[in-house]
Amino acid sequence: MAVGVRAFGAGSGYSPLMNDSRPGIPADRYVERLAACREAVAACGFAALLIGVGPDLRYLTGFVGEPMERLTLLVIPVNGPVRFVVPHLEATKAAATPLVAAGVAEVVPFGETDDVAARVAALLGAAKPADPIGLSDRLWAMHVLQLQRALSARRFEPASTVLRDLRQVKDADEARLLRLAAQAADRTMDAIAAGPLVGRTEAEVGREIRGRLIDEGHDLADFAIVGSGPNGAAPHHDAGDRVIAAGEPVVLDLGGTLAGYVSDTTRTIWVAGEAWIAPEPEFRRVFDVVRAAQAAATAAVKPGVPAEQIDAAARRVIGAAGYGEYFTHRVGHGVGLETHEDPYMVSGNVTPLRPGMAFSVEPGIYLPGRWGVRLENIVICTDSGPEVLNHSSLDLRVVRG
Ligand code: ZN
Ligand code: ZN
Ligand code: ZN
Repeated sequence: MAVGVRAFGAGSGYSPLMNDSRPGIPADRYVERLAACREAVAACGFAALLIGVGPDLRYLTGFVGEPMERLTLLVIPVNGPVRFVVPHLEATKAAATPLVAAGVAEVVPFGETDDVAARVAALLGAAKPADPIGLSDRLWAMHVLQLQRALSARRFEPASTVLRDLRQVKDADEARLLRLAAQAADRTMDAIAAGPLVGRTEAEVGREIRGRLIDEGHDLADFAIVGSGPNGAAPHHDAGDRVIAAGEPVVLDLGGTLAGYVSDTTRTIWVAGEAWIAPEPEFRRVFDVVRAAQAAATAAVKPGVPAEQIDAAARRVIGAAGYGEYFTHRVGHGVGLETHEDPYMVSGNVTPLRPGMAFSVEPGIYLPGRWGVRLENIVICTDSGPEVLNHSSLDLRVVRG
C-alpha cells in the first residue's frame, strides 16, 4: 500500500455479510442509499426519479441486467411509495433485490400488452407538476420518447443531477471492491508485460489479456487496448492485426469488472526482442515526462482541490517539456460501477475533491506515426491525500518480449 489503508465515510465499516465467498455490497447499504437518494430528490427540487436498467439502478437496488426493449423502471417520487416497475418475467428477480426484501420498495409487474408508460404516469399522479422528473442518463431513447408522450406536461432533467454526488463518493465497501479489481488488473498487466509479445498480433495479446482478467478475479473483461508501435499514438486504439516487433513500445490499457466495480490501468513497455534493441532516446525522454506528470497529478490529489487542478498538474509537466500539444485528452475520469463516470479530471470541472472519490490519473503523449506513452493508475482521494490502488511498477520496463 503506497499511502496506507483507511476507511472513509461515516458508518461505512465492513458488515458481517462481507465474509461471503464473493465480495460485494452489504444488503442494508441499499436501504441507506435509497434514503440518501430521496433526500437528494427533495433537496434538488425534483418531483421524482425514473431509473432504468444500468449503473444507477445497480447502485440503488443491486439489480443487475441488460437494458432491453421492455421497460424496467425504479420510480422514486419525492414523497410516497417507491415502485419497481418490471416486466412479469423479471418480477421474481426484482423481488429478490434488497430494497424489495426490506420492504422499502414494491414490485409492480406488467404484462406484454400493457401500456407501461401510462402505468408509470399514473403512479406519479399529479404530484408536484411544476417540478422536473429525473431520467437516468443511460435510459434508451425509445423509452424516453414513450415517457415524454405519456407525461407530456412534465419537464425532464438528467437524474445524474441528483445522483452524481452520491455515486461519486465511494464508501469503504466500494473502495474495497475497487482495490480488489485494481490488484487483479495489476497481476494481469505484470503477466502480459513479461511476454511473449514479439511475433504475436495485438489481437492475440488482447485475447490473452481478456482471459487473464477473468482468471485473476474479474467477472467480466471489459477492454484490452494493445497499441504497438505507431498504433500506440491513438489513445483508444483497440487491438488489431498488427504483429508486435522487437524495437518498439507497446501501450497496454486493460480493465474488467469485479462485483460491479471496474479496474482500468495502463502501462507502456519497450519490447527489445532477442536482439535487445534498446529504447530510442526520445522514447526514454517522453516516458520520463509522462511518469513525472503522472506523479505530479497524483501528488496533487487531496480534499478540496478542484478536479481540474489534477489535470493542470499533469499538463504543466508535459507542457514544460515541450510536448503539450501531444497530450490530447483529459488526465482522468471517475471509476466505480462505470469505467467513465463523475468526477472527470478535466479543465473546467471545479468540483472540489472529496474523500472517497475514485478516478484515473492517466497522462499520455502521442507522437503521430511513431508511438505513444500513457501511464494510468486508479487513485482514491482520502483525508490525507491520494491512495493509489495500482501497485504494478511504473518504471520503464524493457522486456525481451
Ligand atoms: Zn479511456
Ligand atoms: Zn485505461
Ligand atoms: Zn482510464
